[in-house]
Amino acid sequence: MSAAVRSTVVVDGKALSSAIRQEIAEQVAARVAAGRRPPCLAVVLVGDNPASASYIKGKRRASERAGMRSIEVDLPASASEADVLAAVERLNRDPEVDGILVQLPLPRGVRPNAIAAAVDPAKDVDGLHPLNAGRLLAGEPALAPCTPLGILEILDRHGVALEGARAVVLGRSLIVGKPVALLLLQRNATVTMAHSRSRDLPDLVREADVLVAAVGSARLVKADWIRPGAAVIDVGVNEVEGTLVGDVDFEGALGIAGLITPPRGGVGPMTITMLLRNTLEACRARTGA
Ligand code: NAP
Repeated sequence: MSAAVRSTVVVDGKALSSAIRQEIAEQVAARVAAGRRPPCLAVVLVGDNPASASYIKGKRRASERAGMRSIEVDLPASASEADVLAAVERLNRDPEVDGILVQLPLPRGVRPNAIAAAVDPAKDVDGLHPLNAGRLLAGEPALAPCTPLGILEILDRHGVALEGARAVVLGRSLIVGKPVALLLLQRNATVTMAHSRSRDLPDLVREADVLVAAVGSARLVKADWIRPGAAVIDVGVNEVEGTLVGDVDFEGALGIAGLITPPRGGVGPMTITMLLRNTLEACRARTGA
């Protein structure tokens, strides 16, 4: 099938993020000018995984640049589940803490689900507490996971029409696939979810006006799977011979997709930005202002 060559909009997630972070910083500054305390994000790091430490540093730096307070709780790799639960409980009780994020992955023996369920749902800025997941399912206001929120923000800020659109989500994780499918459904897209057992993936993807690939498999989605003009959001982060590549053949998709996120500087920066927005919203909801 030969697709008509067209110009593809390559999403600049960094520029979009910095514009939204500026908006958030202005809202934080307005709160402080009105005599209210700034929002406070607490991050919990268990162990010494260098990638996790670097993610946490990025999150803290971004929150501080937006004028927020940030607290870091470091626990050793030997910490038990009870130790992590106790740290979360202390943050739950601290009235000055608005958002709690426990960096994943957690050491063996510490169950991520048990930790997610222990976070006060009002401070659950990662949107992983079962109550928030249930609210999202019910279509009620909820703190939703940050990467899916970032994806919706990218689509909205580029004017991608969602109502009635055919959306295909590849991947069904709790952190990306399922919540982004629910957010798209809330916006009246017709959503198909696919996963490792789905048959006829290329044909499913060819249906998509909006494609979200959140699989973790380098260049799984080939150029000739993409519907001409589709909006393609590539969440995948895969390292191939020292280079970062997505779940979509980015180069091949240029000239076919209407819009695409690049492997670097696409979805990634938006995830932290939505963490800041969730922290501000949690602070507003908790303090009533
Ligand atoms: P995950 O928990 O590993 O889930 C992967 C999903 O992909 C599963 O649902 C799996 O199906 C499905 N899958 C695996 N192979 C497949 C195939 N060949 N065809 C169709 N579906 C397949 O991953 P995740 O946490 O959602 O992350 C996905 C990717 O996004 C990773 O590369 C991750 O690093 C990246 N990520 C990026 C950001 C960001 O901010 N940029 C944030 C989060 C994640 P089953 O359920 O059947 O196993």
